Amino acid sequence: MALNRVRGMEFNWSLNPYMGCAHRCTFCYVRAFEERADRPGDARYGDVVRVKTNVVEVLRQELARPSWPRESVAVGAATDPYQPAEGRYRLTRGCIGAFAEHRTPFDLITRGTMILRDLDVLVEAARRARIAIHFSVPTLDPEVWRRTEPGTANPRQRLRVLTRLVEAGIAAGVAMAPILPGISDRPEQLAAVVRAARDAGATHLWSGWLHMKGATRAYFLEHLAREWPAELERYQRLYGSRAYLGAAEGRALREQIAALKRRYPLRGRAGLIAPPAEPVQLMLSI
Ligand code: SF4
Repeated sequence: MALNRVRGMEFNWSLNPYMGCAHRCTFCYVRAFEERADRPGDARYGDVVRVKTNVVEVLRQELARPSWPRESVAVGAATDPYQPAEGRYRLTRGCIGAFAEHRTPFDLITRGTMILRDLDVLVEAARRARIAIHFSVPTLDPEVWRRTEPGTANPRQRLRVLTRLVEAGIAAGVAMAPILPGISDRPEQLAAVVRAARDAGATHLWSGWLHMKGATRAYFLEHLAREWPAELERYQRLYGSRAYLGAAEGRALREQIAALKRRYPLRGRAGLIAPPAEPVQLMLSI
């Protein structure tokens, strides 16, 4: 099975060509999923990346079924689809091609600049269905980036790639997540990301605080104790035994980001490739 049915999220379907992620972000929420599947979510996370070598073939079969509802698929919700293994296996590229063939909309989230290699298939997919790319850029603070994301490309490089995608007509925006209390949430740090997203031509931007469950919590707090020991008390106070920050903190962040978006307005969708307006089922013979 390539497509996973998802319940209780903003999307109904997900696809992950890989399991595990060599980017090894210290805050990665997938560490908790790995632990639940009896795989290591600690410092060993990312040592092994499982490759679904037949995912493209299986996806094509699933998308060809008359019962496939052509709902949007979230690509990369549980692993980065443009982590280093993609250079060799080209599975994400193959899946995008399959979505294009079957006029299936999708949202793809990544920290990987390798996505630029697949500009041709992304353009084709955008001509056939609604697609959106979300570049994770939680911060542009070089110190925070280096200390929390040991395996990713510089976030400014991600924004340069975002610009190339938007120039080609693809909707591409910024996911400011996870924002780390006391570490990457200073007003000037938040403003720097929104301003840079605006300058890069981002079509959209959303944000979210750090979530800490299970192995993610254990690993991140251990990392915090080593790298930012003075912040430990803040996290204990803010999170207690909860995985999420409270509603008040969520509202405060949304308001801050909304104000920044008013100050640095994003470009929106003008000039992008417009997906077909007609119901996709009617266009299958093209
Ligand atoms: S890139 Fe995403 S999936 Fe990979 S380690 Fe970082 S947060 Fe986790």
